Amino acid sequence: MTTPLTLALSKGRIFIETLPLLAQAGIRVLEDPETSRKLILETSRSDLRIIIVRASDVPTYVQYGAADLGVAGKDVLLEHGTEGLYQPIDLGVARCRMSVAVPRGFDYQNAVRQGARLRVATKYLRTAREHFAAKGVHVDLIKLYGSMELAPLIGLADAIVDLVSSGNTLRANDLVEVEQIMPISAKLIVNQAALKLKRGAIQPLLEVFSQIVSPAGVSP
Ligand code: ATP
Ligand code: MG
Repeated sequence: MTTPLTLALSKGRIFIETLPLLAQAGIRVLEDPETSRKLILETSRSDLRIIIVRASDVPTYVQYGAADLGVAGKDVLLEHGTEGLYQPIDLGVARCRMSVAVPRGFDYQNAVRQGARLRVATKYLRTAREHFAAKGVHVDLIKLYGSMELAPLIGLADAIVDLVSSGNTLRANDLVEVEQIMPISAKLIVNQAALKLKRGAIQPLLEVFSQIVSPAGVSP
């Protein structure tokens, strides 16, 4: 008997950029989450289904074993923590960077040098806290759930910590990137208990994925 597997993905970039990797592994997803309202999607493999959850909920489903595997951004994993999660493969998809941005004209380097207390708005409290602590910069962190770019424009914060890819959203809001904190990409995560109990089903998938993202002879 084959053990059915559940893979947690989020709509949008993660789904769109994971799809070609699944295709290369011979797996087709039979429905499109953008047009279907279904949250459980069948695949061309009867022993593998996909669930669609919020990006920041992917580690939770995998940690509790409700999903055996998932794809989550490093940004999300750093905030959530990695207890109970095995992270065998960086898939290299959904790439961007975590950065500090300020309104054009704000002298960030000087504010940091002066030891001023910076007000920083972000969805990524943990990452921001660690970044500024390592630099010895005093910050008041303000938690937001989205549209961080707005915060410095209307006086809620001096700076933001957010994900940047093209920089278009920053430019459109007259913000400039003043510091890159780290590069971000999406990782495959696996429930540690599932890896032991369903090794026969999971291990071949891991081998296919690692072969796809870093084929032998090609350095990653
Ligand atoms: P939601 O939109 O449901 O609030 P989210 O913003 O975390 O959640 P997405 O916008 O789909 O969801 O982003 C999913 C992941 O894609 C992020 O966690 C990050 O790893 C990656 N990503 C890549 N580029 C960007 C970008 N420019 N902005 C935001 N996320 C990005
Ligand atoms: Mg989003």
